[in-house]
Amino acid sequence: MKGAARCYGKLREYLGTVPLIDCHDHSGECGPKYADPIQMAATGYFASDLHSASSDRDMDIMCVTERPFEERWAAFERAWKRSRHTGYARVVKIAIKKFYGEDDLTRESYARIKDKMLNLQAPSVFEGILEDAKIAARLEDVWPDTRKVLDGTLKLTPRARLVIGIPGYHAICNYDGVQSMVAPLNRRVTSLDEYIAACREIFEGWKRFGAVAFKDQSAYSRSLDYGNPTRAEAEAVFNWIVEDPRRRASYPDQIKPLDDFLFHEFMRMARDMELPVQIHTGHMAGIRNDIAKTNAVHLTKVLELHRDVKFDLFHANWPYSGELLYLAKNFPNVAIDFCWANIIDPVYCQNMFKQALSSVPHGKIHGYGSDYCGQVEMSWAHAKIARDNIAIALSDMVEMEYLDLDEAKEVARAWMFDNANEFFKLGVKA
Ligand SMILES: [Zn+2]
Repeated sequence: MKGAARCYGKLREYLGTVPLIDCHDHSGECGPKYADPIQMAATGYFASDLHSASSDRDMDIMCVTERPFEERWAAFERAWKRSRHTGYARVVKIAIKKFYGEDDLTRESYARIKDKMLNLQAPSVFEGILEDAKIAARLEDVWPDTRKVLDGTLKLTPRARLVIGIPGYHAICNYDGVQSMVAPLNRRVTSLDEYIAACREIFEGWKRFGAVAFKDQSAYSRSLDYGNPTRAEAEAVFNWIVEDPRRRASYPDQIKPLDDFLFHEFMRMARDMELPVQIHTGHMAGIRNDIAKTNAVHLTKVLELHRDVKFDLFHANWPYSGELLYLAKNFPNVAIDFCWANIIDPVYCQNMFKQALSSVPHGKIHGYGSDYCGQVEMSWAHAKIARDNIAIALSDMVEMEYLDLDEAKEVARAWMFDNANEFFKLGVKA
């Protein structure tokens, strides 16, 4: 992409020299190992657009690599032709151009790409791509074996900093679920107090390992509208499920008092442990989900109550930009995180970056998070799109004489590196 402003070229060139903090990613391992280019394209986010443009049946056909090529290619090509201009599709196109020298995924280029597929499982290849994208550090939400976190033996991917994933700890609904969360401590719990103490011990162990934030993506399965139930209400649910291991509290009404109470307890732990909290808001991976429950505006009561907790609200709250701009403008403890959003909808981000500059203190914006599972070549392409989006937005603002080019460079650097480095106390030297 290219901006229309006269200073676009100069600003974009500067952005190419600025390192990125990758505020959110899921690379627990270097990889994956692709069977072929169809699988490469249909792994990760673009799968959702292929699915949206085709059918459950066609997705099954193109994704099962054992099926005949002709059948798979026909299903893929039908969907590719209908979807190849989305932000996700651009990631695939940019990646195949950069790493395979191809302009498009066609029947002819398929064979050439298949012959030289990247070995992303090699840590040196993986880190080389991060280096080329100037990704200096990455916050990784990777669901590891908690025992390895606690005993310090967990191996991370290059440049990773761990975050503490908490949804499983507050979404408990039966006896086995409770015990499995605390099992890494080699302990069984019998009361809500014991459970909360065990969670704190586990989270402190993660922090000792080096975790830099809490992370919650519960919006996939519940509303962000957390109530503020009493301990007694939560305890009643907890006692009901643990006194009979065959019971299961039902979604959503029966588990909500416990789920909400624990979420608030964990926010108090984040405050005490001085760790920021990253929360998934807006768009969800996959297809067929309910977007209304993920709107960041539902978090208002949480943000008002936990004023000493710093919140990093994800995905630019796509498609609800106005609500997130409001929250970041109004609450000192809220930052906007554009992770993933730059490829969900590049034009939305270009517009929102401009609006953010004119409405939200620029020190509260985190501009990039790749959000892939090991597909580091896609993270490279995503980083290019994020740099394009920021350069387009800021150069347009220079053209409007809203700020000058030097100021735009300063803002870009803050959005790409300085703000997140400081917010998460990463201490990365540029
Ligand atoms: Zn994610």
